[in-house]
Amino acid sequence: MRLRNIPGAREEMLLNPFVIQNPMQYKGQFCKLFANDHPIHIEVGMGKGQFIMELAKRNPQINYIGIEKYSSVLLRALQKRETLETNNLLFMRLDAECLPDIFAPEEIAKIYLNFSDPWPKDRHAKRRLTSLEFLQRYQKIIPQGAMLEFKTDNYDLFTFSLEQLEKAPWVLEAKTYDLHRDVALNEGNIMTEYEERFSKLGNPIYKMMIRYLGERLPSKEHLA
Ligand code: SAM
Repeated sequence: MRLRNIPGAREEMLLNPFVIQNPMQYKGQFCKLFANDHPIHIEVGMGKGQFIMELAKRNPQINYIGIEKYSSVLLRALQKRETLETNNLLFMRLDAECLPDIFAPEEIAKIYLNFSDPWPKDRHAKRRLTSLEFLQRYQKIIPQGAMLEFKTDNYDLFTFSLEQLEKAPWVLEAKTYDLHRDVALNEGNIMTEYEERFSKLGNPIYKMMIRYLGERLPSKEHLA
């Protein structure tokens, strides 16, 4: 999603108290921004933020950071954030490629990806937020055992994402090819903007929940 450039969007964000300015200075200390030591969960590519705002409302014991690449999109989230009475949700304008520069090892307890851009051309596969390259970035900021949840209506992207797991120290905990008809996995589901739009068109929603297994132990040959 890339909305038309909104004049003044960048300037407005610089003044907004819910946007983390110069995030690199908080590396390893993001909990200070929330003034507590609750776990921090992030949504990468949050768009207009409907999902993470509802999540934050439902879970006051968790701190959330919504991450979005484009100022014009983030601005829409900020407009909605104004009506939300909760102090456990902040935003950051950031390209997810930089996540390991911003967060310290194990600083993030859980990651959400919703309707990430599919980048259908093979030569752009590394840009997909579930590519091996991105999984390796996430590994640098989460502890062993942490979960990542991913929803999409794009079958090819979903299949690609499952294949990436084979090459990475992650394990599939659960998956569905029709979330809204899966009673167990759909319980407590929060719809994103894209999810509402595509499920209205009749598209099934795919979801996977994966767990980071931690660094692979060196092989025996390696130790010999
Ligand atoms: N998650 C929202 C939803 O489900 O309604 C928005 C989905 S939209 C298709 C994907 C969003 O991810 C866009 O807002 C886009 O700007 C953002 N995005 C894509 N690549 C990104 C990246 N590398 N870092 C941060 N945000 C990214």
